[in-house]
Formats: sequence, C-alpha cells, structure tokens
Amino acid sequence: MSLPADLHMHTPLCRHAVGEPVDYAQRALDLGFTEIGFSDHSPMPRDDFDNWRMQDRQLDDYVAKVRLAQQKFPQLTIRLALEVDYLPGHEDWIRSLAARHPWDYFIGSVHYVSEAWDIDNPAKLSEWKKRDAYEVWQIYFDRLTLAAASGLFDIIGHADLPKKFGIRPAQDCTPFYDKFLEAAATAGCAIELNTAGLRKPCEEIYPGRDLLEIAFNKHVPITFGSDAHAPTEVGMNFAQAIALARSVGYTETVHYKLRQAESAWL
Ligand code: ZN
Ligand code: FE
Ligand code: FE
Ligand code: ZN
Repeated sequence: MSLPADLHMHTPLCRHAVGEPVDYAQRALDLGFTEIGFSDHSPMPRDDFDNWRMQDRQLDDYVAKVRLAQQKFPQLTIRLALEVDYLPGHEDWIRSLAARHPWDYFIGSVHYVSEAWDIDNPAKLSEWKKRDAYEVWQIYFDRLTLAAASGLFDIIGHADLPKKFGIRPAQDCTPFYDKFLEAAATAGCAIELNTAGLRKPCEEIYPGRDLLEIAFNKHVPITFGSDAHAPTEVGMNFAQAIALARSVGYTETVHYKLRQAESAWL
C-alpha cells in the first residue's frame, strides 16, 4: 500500500515558505511518495491585499517552478494546484484564476472571516481577545459552507482552522460542521486531513475527529496534506493522519488530475 498523495505544499513565492519545488519533490521521493501536489497561496484581485501570497504577475513563475520539478522527477507524479482563499464576492476572480492554467485541483481555504482578519495570522493573535470564539466559529463555518457549495473547489483546506491557537468555544459546534459537510457532500467536494495542525498550539490534525466522523457518515471524500512550508515538512505525520482516517472508517482517499477526482485505497 503506497502512501496517499501529499496534496498541500507551498513555495517561496508566498513569502513565508522556504525551498524550491524540486527540493520538496526530492524529499517526497526519499520518503517513498509516488504523488504530490503543489498548492501555493493564490494571488488576490489586489496585490496589496496582504503579504503572505504570490503576486498576480508571479503566477506563471509558479507554474514554471512546478513544471521544472515535473521534468526533473518523471518518476514522481507532481500535480499543479493552488490554495485559493475563499471570500464571499471573490467567485468571479476565482473562476478567472481557474481559466489561466490547466490546474489539477483547487484547495479552497478560508483564512479571512472579514476583509481585515486572517484568523490564523500570529501577528493578529490579539484579535481573538476582542471576539467571542463561538461567533468566530459561526462566521468561519458559514464561509466554509459557501466555499463548499460554490463548486469552485475540489478540496476544502484545514476545515477547523480556527482551533489553531487552542482557543475554542465552550458551545457545541456540531450544527456548524453538519451544515458545512452537507454542502460538501452535495457538491462532491473533498476535505483534507492537514497535518500542519500538529505543529501548531492546538496540536491536532485539521480537522479533529468530531468533524471527520460527520464527514465519513456523509460520504465526504478525503485527501491528505502536510501543508509543508519547507522541504523537511513534506509528508510529516502522515502515519498519524492515515490512522485517524482509518479509525473513523475511511478506506479510500482521492487525488486529482485536471480537476477530475480518482479514488485510491487507503
Ligand atoms: Zn502558508
Ligand atoms: Fe491555509
Ligand atoms: Fe497551505
Ligand atoms: Zn495552508
């Protein structure tokens, strides 16, 4: 049984990652992967929107870097993708991005709960003190539900990202998860098991078991991603992610070519 594809990794173009795609690919080969995918942070309609993504004019450089890795390592399947921020109103922009290159998949991620607050940004950690965690969760999952239902994405990234810093609401969030996963199931959208959460204060895979159990019951497909921002993070903690998926009942995972999903045994 081969390792599931690592479909979430970054490049230095996003300004907070190190190592070229060829370095990530070499690491993946050393670990025994047969497939990986690059999903760097996509450009926004305005380049000054924030400082942690590639600029619009760098999109072709990004594709060229991934193509270079594909040429250097023909023995490894390397997919071309983007991690695209979902904000309500950005739908046309996201469609225009989709038309610019023959992408294998889009990961739709919510980082922003307003135009000004990216909730996972350590520089904005103090914002959490001004807000009620339950309210943040509600806005977050409303946006995630819209993202899943939009049909713009193949995979929804790190579905319970608001837990990153270990701040959690006291209330039961199951109704939020239900609504989001119902939308994902209807749209045929997958969710990812993202091991980056294990490297953050929450010390947990995104998503947690509670959300993943609902996903399994609704037949929402899963992918795997390290969210590597350095070559050493490729495939990190995949054994734990695979064990979690199997323990809730998953026996299959999905991967993508030119935005068509294919299943593989887990
Ligand atoms: Zn990043
Ligand atoms: Fe992300
Ligand atoms: Fe990422
Ligand atoms: Zn990410």
